Amino acid sequence: MDERTDTESRKLLQRLRDTLVSGDAGQARLDKITHLIADSMGTEVCSIYLFRDEDTLELCATEGLMPEAVHQTRMRMGEGLVGRVARTGEVINTPNAPAERGFRYMPETGEERYTSFLGIPIQRLGEKLGVLVVQSRDPRQFSEDELYALEVVAMVLAEMAELGAFVGEGAALSARHQHPVVFRGTCGQEGAAEGRVWLHEPRVVVANPIADDPQRELERLHEAVDQLRVSVDQMLEMSRSGDKDQLEVLEAYRMFANSRGWMRRMEEDIGRGLSAEAAVEKEQSLARARMDQVQDSYLRERLADLDDLSNRLLRILTGQGADTGAEMPADPILIARNIGPGDLLEYGRSLKGIVLEEGSVGSHAAIVARALAIPLVVHAGHITTEALNGDHILVDGDQGMVHLRPEDTIIGAFRDKVAMQAQAQEQFASIRDLPAQALCGTSVSLHMNAGLMADLPSLAGSGAEGVGLFRTELQFLIRNQMPKRSELSALYSRVLDSAKGKRVAFRTLDIGSDKVLPYMKPTDEPNPALGWRAIRVGLDKPGVLRMQLQALLRGAKGRPLTVMFPFVAQYEEFAAARAELDKTIARERILGHQLPASIEVGAMVETPSMAFAPKRFFDEVQFVSIGGNDLKQFFFAADRENERVRRRYDTLNVSFLNLIERIVGLCAESKTPLSFCGEDAGRPIEALCFAAIGLRTLSMRPASIGPVKSLFRRVNLEEVAAVIRTACARGDSTVRPALMDYIRSLP
Ligand code: PEP
Ligand code: MG
Repeated sequence: MDERTDTESRKLLQRLRDTLVSGDAGQARLDKITHLIADSMGTEVCSIYLFRDEDTLELCATEGLMPEAVHQTRMRMGEGLVGRVARTGEVINTPNAPAERGFRYMPETGEERYTSFLGIPIQRLGEKLGVLVVQSRDPRQFSEDELYALEVVAMVLAEMAELGAFVGEGAALSARHQHPVVFRGTCGQEGAAEGRVWLHEPRVVVANPIADDPQRELERLHEAVDQLRVSVDQMLEMSRSGDKDQLEVLEAYRMFANSRGWMRRMEEDIGRGLSAEAAVEKEQSLARARMDQVQDSYLRERLADLDDLSNRLLRILTGQGADTGAEMPADPILIARNIGPGDLLEYGRSLKGIVLEEGSVGSHAAIVARALAIPLVVHAGHITTEALNGDHILVDGDQGMVHLRPEDTIIGAFRDKVAMQAQAQEQFASIRDLPAQALCGTSVSLHMNAGLMADLPSLAGSGAEGVGLFRTELQFLIRNQMPKRSELSALYSRVLDSAKGKRVAFRTLDIGSDKVLPYMKPTDEPNPALGWRAIRVGLDKPGVLRMQLQALLRGAKGRPLTVMFPFVAQYEEFAAARAELDKTIARERILGHQLPASIEVGAMVETPSMAFAPKRFFDEVQFVSIGGNDLKQFFFAADRENERVRRRYDTLNVSFLNLIERIVGLCAESKTPLSFCGEDAGRPIEALCFAAIGLRTLSMRPASIGPVKSLFRRVNLEEVAAVIRTACARGDSTVRPALMDYIRSLP
């Protein structure tokens, strides 16, 4: 470290702090700051550009450029050198700015006289706030020390902006965290919710970014890091025998907590005048900025670990625990970067909505949110940096949109939509106990999909005739270790108690692909959706399958039991799974356990191969359920988790309908009961189409039963079948437009 630069840097920060405590208005403060920086750095120019909106930077203060250009000169993200610094979050340091790629000459600023350019992003925890620039006439490359010193200044400016120090006239100087912001994410669970922000991890507030006494700050940092190391070691000690993923995270924590580079950088920043908290936050901001650039998922996870660790360190330094004493609002909308299924279950139904910055449609948290029927939006930009506890927020799960601090017109439109949905719900409730009978007299049996105990109350509320798909893997996914047989049988028993005699089709463990058990050794497969999953795992490692079958047999406590095997791709797999069940039954009998009154054994058809399976499969299986989510992804070779392709092919595409019709025909020939339990069964038009081509049982989310039944009761299935036939004969590639026309023509 260069002693002289450090002293200079500290002096500059002290002077910046004086401006912070002065009674100046925002603009006057900014003007003073640019003057101070130019003076301290010995440059002719210092300018501060702040974001005016998401995409536009505005020159807000300058020493050296034309004063008339202030609040007039604007540039888009990526435009010119300043725009490039803002977009990439990276420093530009050049002795010859006009020769740099992307240089843009702004005549109104008079900057052509300055050749050297050093631009530093002003950012705070992944949030881009602006750009700090110094320029000078002589062609010179700014030294590493000057660059670091200016980075420290940029950090202080970011903290000052957060504290509202630059608030004043004009859009770029307006107070932060007060504007409406719209986030366009992805739908994780449909539904609309209005409420107040509840941050899962409240933000730590750094009240003083500048230190008087670097020695004291260094001591504070060392004490806090020591405390952090001890707590990480303790956490590691406690979870030695537990979950592998968690261990990996803790190991990463320990590595960072002991990292010399991390420590050295923070010490240097303190040497330049930052407080210990601000030094930690500066490192954290850099890690967040890197997180936005890095594609590799492993590296991103490690950067996220560093981010978590920095939060812990900040909490130690500021004494602000996770519990800030804030009271959870009555209508909380949970905001988090990501959240585990266990944490989410703890909040339970108290949440009105959930918005995640990361997450994915198929994540465990999404599965839990769906089970609890809480509207969920994932991939919502930088919402954790924008939202403050208590902010008004609207979540539109259907569109994947989030309105933070919305304007009145948006609130009005949103409330109208919610009111219309509520009206529709009332109408659905009024037909709850009526059959899903079409005008031609044909009835379709509507069942619900479930996976948690929390789902079961919907059985009565939705009017479902039974549970057509109980995804047993959820119980395995939400734990840190393999559940015990006794726990599972108690749970299955409670599920049957709650079903009060209605049929529950328990699907055996469907893991692999996107559903990875945290406590099982991960398999490194190039293409997990086509890999070792579901019944393939059950047959190759039968220990868990047998344990689960035993738990099911015992949980039935003498009542009828329905079991189905997932992802059967050829007859032999079904036969082998059935044989495992028969063996387990025989063993239970020998052990003297009570057996179910009857056992119905089915298979899920989730690969196109089964539509061409030998007849004996359809003769031997007692029922078939079409897992349309998987069947469709394999039929069209389009990954159901991949946003780019997952909506590319229409379920009502004639090719796919021909496949379903073929399965309907094969089951009819063998008199095998058939149902459809993929997501499409819950979409009214798709459901209608399936019924018209012969399906008589559909299983769906409980919330879909009302809309599907309501449509069924308005149509004549024979007419629907005729519409489909005509569209096919005409050569339509999808029957959707024809069906939509038919529905629109209904009285
Ligand atoms: C399906 O694939 O349609 C299905 C119901 O199973 P899951 O969505 O659990 O894979
Ligand atoms: Mg499936």
